[in-house]
Amino acid sequence: MPSRPHLFYGLTNSLCSQCLSKVEAKILFRKGNVYLAKHCPTHGPEEVLIADDIDYYKQCQEFIKPGDMPRRFNTPIKYGCPYDCGICADHEQHGCITLVELTERCNLSCPICYADAGAEEISAQSHQPRKHRSLEQIEQMLDAIVANEGEPDVVQLSGGEPTIHPQFFEVLEAAQRRPIKHIMINTNGVRIAKEPEFAKRLASYLPGIEVYLQFDSFDEGPLRELRGADLRQVRQQAIDRLNEYNLSTTLVSTVKKGLNDHEIGKTIDFALKQKAIRGVTFQPIQAAGRLDGFEAGRDRYTLTEVRRSILEQSDTFKPKDLLPVPCHPDCLVMGYALKLAGKVIPLTGLMDPTDFLSAVPNSVVYEQDEELKDKIFKLFSTNHSPASSASALKQLLCCLPKVNVPAGMGYDNIFRVMVVQFLDAYNFDVRSVKRACIHIAHPDGRIIPFDTYNLFYREGCAGQAKLQEVMGGMPAIATPMTSTISPVSIN
Ligand code: SF4
Ligand code: SF4
Repeated sequence: MPSRPHLFYGLTNSLCSQCLSKVEAKILFRKGNVYLAKHCPTHGPEEVLIADDIDYYKQCQEFIKPGDMPRRFNTPIKYGCPYDCGICADHEQHGCITLVELTERCNLSCPICYADAGAEEISAQSHQPRKHRSLEQIEQMLDAIVANEGEPDVVQLSGGEPTIHPQFFEVLEAAQRRPIKHIMINTNGVRIAKEPEFAKRLASYLPGIEVYLQFDSFDEGPLRELRGADLRQVRQQAIDRLNEYNLSTTLVSTVKKGLNDHEIGKTIDFALKQKAIRGVTFQPIQAAGRLDGFEAGRDRYTLTEVRRSILEQSDTFKPKDLLPVPCHPDCLVMGYALKLAGKVIPLTGLMDPTDFLSAVPNSVVYEQDEELKDKIFKLFSTNHSPASSASALKQLLCCLPKVNVPAGMGYDNIFRVMVVQFLDAYNFDVRSVKRACIHIAHPDGRIIPFDTYNLFYREGCAGQAKLQEVMGGMPAIATPMTSTISPVSIN
């Protein structure tokens, strides 16, 4: 009797990439790869590559911790995930990072903008005018985040391009007045590069702010394809200014398979030499929003492929440095290195391998040591401020008997590499999205996972029609704040 050509590993729910209906999906292992095999009653079968490393994929299923509860949930469980966002009472993780979009406008018009932002006043996609949000509305969104989180770990001011909001600094001050531990500014860097006074004023808000700087390529071709402009000089000028003020910065590279994926190692090496840069985040393109020239079958890049590229292209990190992040392991990879006296030492390089890592590939000794495991889980999280990541790292190192914590070690010495993969209609997995810890404030007061926001909840996006259909024709944004339910009501 012939065997199946794959191993059937499990079952989940996904989405049909054509009509966004919820469909059952088998998780299959075949020839070293992991696939989602779905069947839509209307559009038939669909198979999607979700990982090219079975061992690492399995490690993600084990590398988990109980989720942290927000102070409140915003919507009841009614239509089923992902149609109840949110945060609905069925969501398993609070927001480690929550975005607030200040504006729909931008000083660039990237062909791949998930937010359909642009320099033109009218969107060619929605035919609606692009607006700045009012300060009052932004403050309400900040208040909604605080109401959900109490003391939010990280709030990211985003857009569109947040720095072109006419009241950008008032927004920054409004955020600093609230009990937010760490504020990030998600920017393309154009104003920082071109306006010295803007960069100087931004630096005056230190400490407690960090720049999340778009940085996709060193070459003109990929920049034009991803950003619609040759930004090489702008990027360098922005980094020079950030170095001048030692303004903590994370470079963010949007990666498209076959376009800029060969630059991953070069980006890490470049970042390590910059005074102000504390790390690099690689984000494979999410198939959502404006995606001119993007073909999912050809251009999608999985989390494990990016991780593999980091290992192949950079000498800094070894496989056991790049671990799943326990709050959302399917979608987040993280690795640490220390910059000490001109040297770059990966975290595992500081340790005796027998303290930390077992000889078995992808398994870790600390799984048996609860204290060590707790400290690793604290460090490997997206919710860090500069102070908290330095302190979490020190606590971990102190816990290891053969490691001397370097004197005076602070955030300036830490370098963090991350892969952040957002779920789209292709790789969507209900089991995974319930752990999503990167959220976004909806203007109506809800706080929604970033993944589902771009698929269903962003005004004018393709998924709004599906949402209305599921809700029996009800407006897709109707859940008022008065429907807020407390954590108590989930039982
Ligand atoms: S993604 Fe989370 S918030 Fe949205 S419906 Fe699913 S469980 Fe609820
Ligand atoms: S810089 Fe960012 S917000 Fe502006 S168009 Fe590009 S992706 Fe969109």
